[in-house]
Amino acid sequence: MIITIDGPAGSGKSTVARKLAARLGIAYLDTGAMYRAIAHAALERGVDCGDSEALADVARSVDLEVNCGPTHTRVEVDGRDVTEAIRTMAVSVASSAVAGQEGIRNLLVEHQRRLGAKLGSFVTEGRDQGSVVFPSADAKFVLDAAVEKRAERRHREMLADGEDVSFEEVLENLNRRDDVDCKQWVPLLEPEAAILIDTTHMSLKDVVDRLESEIKSICTRGSESG
Ligand code: C5P
Repeated sequence: MIITIDGPAGSGKSTVARKLAARLGIAYLDTGAMYRAIAHAALERGVDCGDSEALADVARSVDLEVNCGPTHTRVEVDGRDVTEAIRTMAVSVASSAVAGQEGIRNLLVEHQRRLGAKLGSFVTEGRDQGSVVFPSADAKFVLDAAVEKRAERRHREMLADGEDVSFEEVLENLNRRDDVDCKQWVPLLEPEAAILIDTTHMSLKDVVDRLESEIKSICTRGSESG
């Protein structure tokens, strides 16, 4: 079973995807971590994120290892675990630039499909999972929430991770990433095929419950029809 969860930063998709994968006992793939890992490598090498050739060189030359468990996606770059290091604000900003490069997207899309083929059953989250990467997924969700709510959630997470950042900075970063991201992934979504859920006023548990019940009805419909 392949379940895709797409949506903007802070929509709750990472936490929801992790919880859902754990409930279903299948793997969890965080594709944002892959864009972040390339961005982190570029920053470490002092590459200018406006230089598309140099960014593409980084993406082609790094050895990116992705390890998917039911509650985590660990990423290694050239043998070094960067799972925690890729969560900073600087990496968030750079990852949008990385994601804007078509060549890098193509590389990562292929990588995600290879991972998917190995995993078999999994919950994957990102921006283009239900449209581009796994268009024949069994269940496709798009999560969204008001930008202030998304900034509030992201801010809380970053403080918990020990990042010294203000709410205003997070809000500004989300607005900026939304602008860039929208051009990339909004046209990729297929609203008629995906179930759209606004999580602004929902608790995490409510969202996971809702997804689980949608999946159950999709499975029931599938077994009735054949
Ligand atoms: O989801 P997360 O915030 O970790 O993603 C980091 C960045 O990677 C996003 O801002 C987006 O630009 C990019 N991304 C993407 N396609 C995906 C996953 C992430 O463009 N499937």
